[in-house]
Amino acid sequence: VNSRLANAGTSIFAEMSGLAAETGSINLGQGFPDTDGPAEIARAAADAVLAGRGNQYPPGRGIPELREAVAQHQKRFYGITLDPGAEVLVTAGATEAIAAALLALIEPGDEVIAFEPTYDTYAACVAMAGGRHVAVPLRPPGFRPDLEALRAAVTPRTRILLLNSPHNPTGAVLTREELAFVADLAVERDLLVISDEVYEHLVYDVEHVPVSTLPGMRERTLTISSGGKTFSFTGWKVGWVTGPADLVSAVLTAKQFLTYVSSGPFQYAIAEALRLPDDYFDGLRRELRHKRDLLSDGLRSAGFTVYPPDGTYFVTTSIQGLGDTNGADGLEFCRNLPRRCAVAAIPNQVFYQSPDAEARSLVRFAFCKRTDVLTEAVNRLANLT
Ligand code: PMP
Ligand code: GLN
Repeated sequence: VNSRLANAGTSIFAEMSGLAAETGSINLGQGFPDTDGPAEIARAAADAVLAGRGNQYPPGRGIPELREAVAQHQKRFYGITLDPGAEVLVTAGATEAIAAALLALIEPGDEVIAFEPTYDTYAACVAMAGGRHVAVPLRPPGFRPDLEALRAAVTPRTRILLLNSPHNPTGAVLTREELAFVADLAVERDLLVISDEVYEHLVYDVEHVPVSTLPGMRERTLTISSGGKTFSFTGWKVGWVTGPADLVSAVLTAKQFLTYVSSGPFQYAIAEALRLPDDYFDGLRRELRHKRDLLSDGLRSAGFTVYPPDGTYFVTTSIQGLGDTNGADGLEFCRNLPRRCAVAAIPNQVFYQSPDAEARSLVRFAFCKRTDVLTEAVNRLANLT
């Protein structure tokens, strides 16, 4: 592997899911639901396959039905108006949207600022694109952004602010006021914003605000989302990017040489999913809020320090208070946890460039699992030896 990827190693998700499978552990590591999304949406995918819809290469920008459904969804939830012909692009999950956007927009040596902890693909894709990843820390307990530190991180080489709200792994959701500061800074310094909003519907008692809706942002923001989280079909890898036509076309230029197209029949099914009534989205949120509280309470009782998330399906904890004889290193803790009590988790430190002691003590658990599974996991964690 070349020098740009020398530090990348194996993804922590592959490592921890492998370990979970090997040891028969409850996998609260990699974020995927243990129950599939709506049966009618699964049926729509099966129907598409059997009826021959999407079994051959779909159009490069994605099938018109899905682009239309993405535009309608943005209108319904946020009042955003998009031209589905030019301002919506379907991708192989949000992952490809992030990669293609960075590959399309970064000049060698350009700086990309992202809050840290940073979702693992960001740094790798910035590196592959020849850019430089600049991290601005989010710290417990609240993981709020230090906005003056953000301002100070902008240099003449800064080209892109890469946002993720709701934020993986901390569950922090940027407020309208925080986003307004970011937006003003982007306008003032003429920066592009790539906004990863894959957890847009997974917010609990707070509002998700798309940064593209703030003044001056429409023309400089690429917004990324995915059917994986909202509809509990992470294996289908149907994602999309929306924004002004010129930026979306730039992403398409890179995307056409990555996958060209993907997920034909699943695009029809996700188009249908995006048209589900509001009840579906409210129900998902209610269910996950309950699971968040169940897991958070259980982890707290088991001795973890819990930082309750406002969004996503992850809860970040600190293992410092456990009085663990194995020490307080999250990576070591997560590598041992499956053998100690048959539960798997993710060490947050892999989302940092140079994790300090505080970052090394943080461990993330996913709560997108059945309640009986969460209860059993909590019982096992309470008996850690
Ligand atoms: N961004 C974030 C913040 C994520 O957590 C994930 C999901 N795991 C992705 C992007 C990737 O989404 P997808 O599975 O649609 O590629
Ligand atoms: N985004 C998911 C998580 O954070 C995992 C996706 C992946 O395995 N790449 O757990």
